[in-house]
Amino acid sequence: MSELMVKLNNVVKSFDDNVVVKNIDMDINAGEFLTLLGPSGCGKTTTLRMIAGFEQPTDGEVIIDGKEVSNIPPHKRDVNTVFQSYALFPHMNVYDNVAFGLKMKKVGKEDIKRRVMEALQLVQLESFAERKPDQLSGGQKQRVAIARALVNSPKVLLLDEPLGALDLKLRRQMQVELKHLQQQLGITFIYVTHDQEEALTMSDRIAVMNGGIIEQLGTPDEIYERPASRFVADFIGETNLFEGKVVELDEQHAYFDLSGHKIPIVPTNPVSLDEEVSMAIRPERVHLHEERNGASFAIPGKVVEHIYVGSIIKTVVSLPGGYEVTVNETPEVAHSFAVDQDVYVNWEPDKAVVIA
Ligand code: ADP
Ligand code: MG
Repeated sequence: MSELMVKLNNVVKSFDDNVVVKNIDMDINAGEFLTLLGPSGCGKTTTLRMIAGFEQPTDGEVIIDGKEVSNIPPHKRDVNTVFQSYALFPHMNVYDNVAFGLKMKKVGKEDIKRRVMEALQLVQLESFAERKPDQLSGGQKQRVAIARALVNSPKVLLLDEPLGALDLKLRRQMQVELKHLQQQLGITFIYVTHDQEEALTMSDRIAVMNGGIIEQLGTPDEIYERPASRFVADFIGETNLFEGKVVELDEQHAYFDLSGHKIPIVPTNPVSLDEEVSMAIRPERVHLHEERNGASFAIPGKVVEHIYVGSIIKTVVSLPGGYEVTVNETPEVAHSFAVDQDVYVNWEPDKAVVIA
């Protein structure tokens, strides 16, 4: 059993009449890397700020390491925050930026020195101690901000889009570094991003937020392979979504009607006859065929276009009922069907996700 570190109990936050966080319940374990993921304005920062202590919940409780802290100020919580904007003191060098909080707490000089150098070592900036922030790159400034947040060994580190200002290549590199740092230290990280790829890469679990609620909380694999709602299926990765009705049920399968084609599906939750459901299938799970080939089902379609993306080739196929399906294939196996060619598509029934 993992030890509980942060607990949100029915947390609500309103600004005037605007409820921006609606009844959030969440348990975060010690040593866990948990990400709040969702579109801009869904309430990620507000949720993080309530854990940090910069906002007080309108209702509900924030519990950190067994202690109710809902109305306790940030500096009295065992938590530090790293922001996208770095928020370094421009007139202080790297050493003094990292040392600042310890000096305020009147920690002894030798102790400060040891802890600052350890923190700088963690982010590989030992040799930059004398530099001023304007002599550092964006990635280095963010490392200083991380060192400053780690220097007093908080139980929980909160990070609000910390890599958002960096270019893509550096961001990818820092994602891996941060993940390694978290594993090395074993500190609980609560990380905010709107970037689904970043969330899938770094997290032990992801809370997908939308409109102030958590739509799904699960491991990257669960979120990607078994999205619990239409929103999650659409927001995470690419997906093909179909709307239809359950037209037949037998022991193993339900059958979904897609414009007159009966498609077997394996629902993870019970569905009933005539129920209107959405079905989601990932582009890399869809197979393209030239012939029908006696498959248990195959939907006829017509190639609309090929899109070359380097590591994958996308083929868009129009299906009956005005649907289009995108098929992703790796270059080794990619078909080179001509535009307008008649083809068939299908997939393994248990790879399609049914969303009621
Ligand atoms: P996210 O971080 O997911 O982009 P936020 O938590 O920053 O979302 O904001 C959620 C909603 O709350 C937004 O509609 C935002 O305008 C609103 N909001 C955030 N802070 C305040 C505030 N201090 N006063 C009024 N509204 C706010
Ligand atoms: Mg935000």
